[in-house]
Amino acid sequence: MAIISSSLDESNSPRSRKELRIVDSNIISEEKNNKNVNLARPNSFKEFIGQDQIKSTLKIAIEASTYRNEVLEHTLLYGQPGLGKTTLALLIAEEMNTKCRVTSAPSIERPRDIVGLLLGLKEGEILFIDEIHRLNKLAEELLYSAMEDFRLDLTMGANRGARCRTINLPKFTLIGATTKFASISAPLRDRFGICQKIEFYSVDELQEIIFNFSTLINLHLENDACCMLAKISRGTPRIALRLLKRVRDYSQVIKKTNKISLEAVEKALISQKIDNKGLDNLDRKFLSFLNLNLNYPVGLDSIAAALGEDSSMLEFVVEPYLIQIGFIIRTPRGRVLTSLGKKYINSKNEN
Ligand code: ADP
Repeated sequence: MAIISSSLDESNSPRSRKELRIVDSNIISEEKNNKNVNLARPNSFKEFIGQDQIKSTLKIAIEASTYRNEVLEHTLLYGQPGLGKTTLALLIAEEMNTKCRVTSAPSIERPRDIVGLLLGLKEGEILFIDEIHRLNKLAEELLYSAMEDFRLDLTMGANRGARCRTINLPKFTLIGATTKFASISAPLRDRFGICQKIEFYSVDELQEIIFNFSTLINLHLENDACCMLAKISRGTPRIALRLLKRVRDYSQVIKKTNKISLEAVEKALISQKIDNKGLDNLDRKFLSFLNLNLNYPVGLDSIAAALGEDSSMLEFVVEPYLIQIGFIIRTPRGRVLTSLGKKYINSKNEN
C-alpha cells in the first residue's frame, strides 16, 4: 500500500513526488478529511493528554477573560507538526463556548481574503490561522490594527483619488500556529498576549493517547504492543495514531483480528521498513551519508543534494528526531554523526 504524505505547503517538494513517509509528522492528504482522525480529537482539556503547563496557563487565561467578560488574548502556539496546535485551538473555542474559524496562511493570498475573514467574524469568535509565519506582508499588516484595536484600516482607490477607510471589527481572538517561531516578524509576534511552545510527548503520554484511540476504533491493543508503538512515535501524537492505523490494517488483513499483539506490531513495522527505533529508510540514508564522511561536519545542502531531498524538509522533519535521540548534532560547520548514531548505522549495515 502506498503511504502518501504531503504537508499542506510542500506539494512541490521533491519528496511529495516520491515515496511518502509514515513517520512524517506533517498531515497527509487522506488524513485531512478522515473521520477517524477527527474522532481522535479530544473534546475537552481533560481528554487532551499531557502539556500540563500549557493547559493550566490556558485555563487560567480563559477563566480570567470569562470573569472580566472580555475576549481571550491573542494566542500563539508553536511547535513541530502533529503535536496538537489545531486541537488546542478547537478546545479553547469549546471552553470559551464560541466558534473557531480555521484557516491557514497559504490560503490567504490576497488582502481581500483576510479582510473577508475578519469581516465574517462575530463578537467573541476565534480565528485560527495555521502556519501563520507564511502570511504575506499585506495580510500581516492588515492584521496589526485588527489585533490591536479591532479595526481595519483600508486604503481605497489609487494615486490622488486614494482614500482611507476605517472599519470597526467585533472583538475576536486570533490563535496563530506555527512550526517556525523564528520566522514570525517581531511586530506580529509582539501582538500575541499568550505565547506557548508545545513540546514533544513522553512515552507514557503517547501510550495513553494510543490506548484511548484504540478503544475508540474498537481495537484490543495489548500493553506491550501499545508501549512499542509509543516508543517509536517520535514524541508526536499524529505519528502515533498513524502507526496504530497501519498496524490495525496489518492485523485485520493478515491476521483477521482486531487484537493487536507485540508480534503484530513488529511485523507491521517491518512491512513498512520501520525499525525498532522508529527510523525509516530516509533516516537511515541520512545517517549513512554522514557515516561516509567520517567525523567531518557536513552542510545541510550537501546532504540534501546527495539524498535528492529538499533541505528544509530534512531540517524540519528528519533532523529533529535524530537530534532528539542523540544520533546527530548540529554544529555551525554542519551536521555530525555521534558515536551512538555511528554504532546504530554500522549495526544496520552489518545486517
Ligand atoms: P498540529 O495542529 O500541531 O499539526 P493536530 O492538532 O492536528 O496537530 O494533532 C494531530 C493529531 O494528534 C490529531 O488527530 C489530534 O487529535 C491528536 N492529538 C494531538 N495532541 C493530542 C493530545 N494531547 N491528546 C490526544 N490527542 C492528541
